[in-house]
Amino acid sequence: MAENMPTFPGLERWHLTCPIGKGAFSEVFRAQDTEALHDEVAIKIMRKRAMNSQQNASMCKEIEIMRQMSHPNLIQLIDTIDTNEYCYIIMELCTGGELFNQVVKLTYLSEDLSRHVILQVARAVQYLHQTLGIVHRDIKPENILFHSIPLLPSKIPKKPQPGEEKKVDEGDFVSGVGCGGIGTVKLGDFGFSKKILGNLTATPCGTMGYAAPEIVDDQKYSTGVDMWALGCVLFALLAGYPPFYDPNIKILMKRVTKAQFAFDSPWWDNISDEAKDLIRNLLTVDPAKRYTIDEFMAHPWILAASQNDQNEK
Ligand code: ADP
Ligand code: MG
Repeated sequence: MAENMPTFPGLERWHLTCPIGKGAFSEVFRAQDTEALHDEVAIKIMRKRAMNSQQNASMCKEIEIMRQMSHPNLIQLIDTIDTNEYCYIIMELCTGGELFNQVVKLTYLSEDLSRHVILQVARAVQYLHQTLGIVHRDIKPENILFHSIPLLPSKIPKKPQPGEEKKVDEGDFVSGVGCGGIGTVKLGDFGFSKKILGNLTATPCGTMGYAAPEIVDDQKYSTGVDMWALGCVLFALLAGYPPFYDPNIKILMKRVTKAQFAFDSPWWDNISDEAKDLIRNLLTVDPAKRYTIDEFMAHPWILAASQNDQNEK
């Protein structure tokens, strides 16, 4: 495989071994450090010429934001290399692949495993919102990666499709592995991330004094987009399908703007009221009423985690 790998100017130190992902303007490769100072890494390669000036600016922002980050549930930046033609983001490698490739495309998770996964994403969100004053703005299954290959049961039940008649049996729930077995998940892709101007630690005191109320409100609720996305991911983990789906984009948009989702039978029959209550509070249309990360962390369904986690240790 490695023999057929493309070579890139300025990237001589890193030996590309295989492609692992593709985005709109980037390609991600697995690579080894020829100087052996680092373990295997992931390198996101962006071709500058393919981007317009706005996309270029957002790439610079992505790098600037990644430079500030250090959290066990965020993909860690190792280095960046900037050349005339390309920009390379060298980062910690997640060998376990995307969350939904590993889990939700195959099945849905038990409440304990779903909690274990969503709590890790939430810790990353809490660090971004409260420590760095950053909104991620692109939380979705493709951007949540398993650090290593998760241990899942060998017999994975077929995922039910929305609309499909299906009886749920006990055995359909992936509950046979301890939460530890599913391992660490990390949030990546900061291409849409944004600094919150109104963040108390990020803005000089005077700036807010001149801002119109709608700007103050916008800033105040801008973190809400990540909370909504957490709700969508949690729904999908528990159900095996997303809360909003329609092949017709207009109908889909209407569903989203009105938060038209349902806990359909039989998929939700065995799921606790606490889990449903948390999802309702995240998938709330009014951002002023939607849960913040602090409210999420204090919810009874989430707090049940600390006990379960402790039992595991
Ligand atoms: P884009 O901004 O183009 O969506 P991403 O940063 O999301 O780019 O990367 C695209 C894909 O590459 C991801 O969805 C994931 O599958 C893979 N990928 C990205 N970073 C890593 C990493 N550190 N380890 C393993 N795979 C990664
Ligand atoms: Mg992405």
